[in-house]
Amino acid sequence: MSRVARAKVVIIGSGPAGYTAAIYAARAMLEPVLIQGIQPGGQLTITTDVENYPGFAHVIQGPWLMEQMLKQAEHVGTRLVSDHVNKAVLSHRPFEISCDSGDRYLADAIIIATGAQARWLDLASEQKFKGYGVSACATCDGFFYRGKNVIVIGGGNTAVEEALFLTNFATRVTLVHRRVRLRAEKILQDRLFAHPNIKVMWNREVAQFVAGGEPEGLVGVDLRDTVSGVIERLDTEGAFVAIGHSPATELFRGHLDLDGDGYIRVEEGTTRTSVPGVFACGDVMDKIYRQAVTAAGTGCMAALDAEKFLAEADFEAAPQAALQHA
Ligand code: NAP
Repeated sequence: MSRVARAKVVIIGSGPAGYTAAIYAARAMLEPVLIQGIQPGGQLTITTDVENYPGFAHVIQGPWLMEQMLKQAEHVGTRLVSDHVNKAVLSHRPFEISCDSGDRYLADAIIIATGAQARWLDLASEQKFKGYGVSACATCDGFFYRGKNVIVIGGGNTAVEEALFLTNFATRVTLVHRRVRLRAEKILQDRLFAHPNIKVMWNREVAQFVAGGEPEGLVGVDLRDTVSGVIERLDTEGAFVAIGHSPATELFRGHLDLDGDGYIRVEEGTTRTSVPGVFACGDVMDKIYRQAVTAAGTGCMAALDAEKFLAEADFEAAPQAALQHA
């Protein structure tokens, strides 16, 4: 049976942006409802070491950091909901949000903090081995490659961090990059180049993942030289794709202005989207910085923008009500 709840602010997403928005909204007495989504805590829950989030003198763990944010959001009065939003009607206020459980929320303001997901190469052979040799998460799957040879594809921070992390398990890690320069921060590059078990192959892209063995599994990758076009095979039992992320904006396509890459457009210097009363923060609107701390910063901005919107809006913001049976 579906239930309907009224809220001043509904926050969709539970990464650093969503939790920070919740902390600020709750402290502004907006009684926010935060719908956590399929991966509560977001991308940091599949990260290990975090050493660039300010406030911690020593390395902390991503899942621990997200647990602290969750507890803080809850402590100041956020109502956390374990559910996944499958529809958002933004054409009238209150906005309507529907969840997989059948529950619906009527909200005077919405803060979108749905983040971004790992991108794939979109090769047919990749599809075949996803979860069985080809992964987009070293933290999740690295353990399965103890004593094996693996490759990491990509040249950004994620690829380099994954390569370094995989040395905890794999015998040999090969980073495959399509150019001759990495995007990753200098400090990470230095660690990568200094590691005795990591080799970098420049100017290479994956032509296909190769099957073999009995039972059949991943046994190699065919790599194309991006300069000469020559294809050569590299034996590997595991491949980690780390080529960036795509924003989770499918729900809002056609309802909010998105840019050419699918990120939510916001008014410069604010978190205001093309629909008044709908705000966006974190990786779903930021394709430049994409850090936990910048996501948290824009989460704070979104809560302050929502607070201002509700204070100035020409309607009485409804008090949060318990779920009512429809
Ligand atoms: P990214 O910085 O966008 O890098 C993506 C990499 O994948 C690039 O090197 C790109 O190559 C390569 N690539 C893209 N499409 C490809 C394709 N089809 N085939 C082969 N290679 C492809 O993504 P990211 O590393 O996931 O990082 C995302 C953001 O999160 C960044 O802002 C990063 O700084 C941040 N981040 C920060 C940390 C940290 O602070 N510790 C950790 C992880 C991520 P090109 O270079 O040739 O374009």
